[in-house]
Amino acid sequence: MIELTDIEKRFGDNLVLKGVNLRIPEGSVTALIGPSGGGKSTLLRCINLLEIPTSGKIRVGEETLEFHPGMKLGWRDIRRLRSQTGMVFQNFQLFPHRTAIENVMEGLVAVLKWPKAKARERGLELLEKVGLAHKADAWPATLSGGQQQRVAIARALALSPRVLLCDEPTSALDPELAGEVVEVLTQLAREGTTMVIATHDLRLASRIAQQAAFLDAGSIVEIGSAQHIFSNPERERTKRFVATLL
Ligand code: ATP
Ligand code: MG
Repeated sequence: MIELTDIEKRFGDNLVLKGVNLRIPEGSVTALIGPSGGGKSTLLRCINLLEIPTSGKIRVGEETLEFHPGMKLGWRDIRRLRSQTGMVFQNFQLFPHRTAIENVMEGLVAVLKWPKAKARERGLELLEKVGLAHKADAWPATLSGGQQQRVAIARALALSPRVLLCDEPTSALDPELAGEVVEVLTQLAREGTTMVIATHDLRLASRIAQQAAFLDAGSIVEIGSAQHIFSNPERERTKRFVATLL
């Protein structure tokens, strides 16, 4: 279970998250939808502490952290929580000077201090899972966008995170390549991977999410079953927004 309580995030005068409460049940997928600038990326980045919330509380499994304005967070705390999460970015963000397998192995070697041979073996399993074992020694620049994103997913899974956070994983890809990534995410969802996916892609969201939250101007306006939110939302704002995705 991942639980966010009263999460606020301020950038200078700009209060970007205004007290977000969200429970992410284990083994299921939560879609985060909402207009541009609403705070989806910021919320995902707060969950894995790429951004430190201004206040509020995050619980991931047994790990809990509380935030207060001006607090200094130690590396130990950041690492403790971050190791429970994997992040997939819109623009892949692979290390360009490492091969596909080296990208996937990075955390195992650098964080968990696994010997290289063992990390490579695990890396190959993960590449196999995303259909790219045959590209293990390829450089990122020689891979298609869809392949790069699949490598990025394998990398994010390497440390066996409790939750996979995906920030618009398909929106930099044309439809065919996006389809490859949707297939991989769908398979992960079937296997019971806990995921939070920020997306404008209603097809992706309605295919794999059980829960959906509509985040607008830093607040969750409506949350419920994905089916409810996508086909029969109650709030006027949600209705209007979902109509723009169709
Ligand atoms: P999109 O759908 O376009 O990806 P989003 O819902 O992901 O939008 P965010 O990227 O989280 O929205 O942005 C929310 C608000 O936070 C915006 O007003 C943005 O300008 C602001 N913001 C995000 N990151 C920073 C930052 N590092 N410094 C200052 N302001 C930021
Ligand atoms: Mg975003």
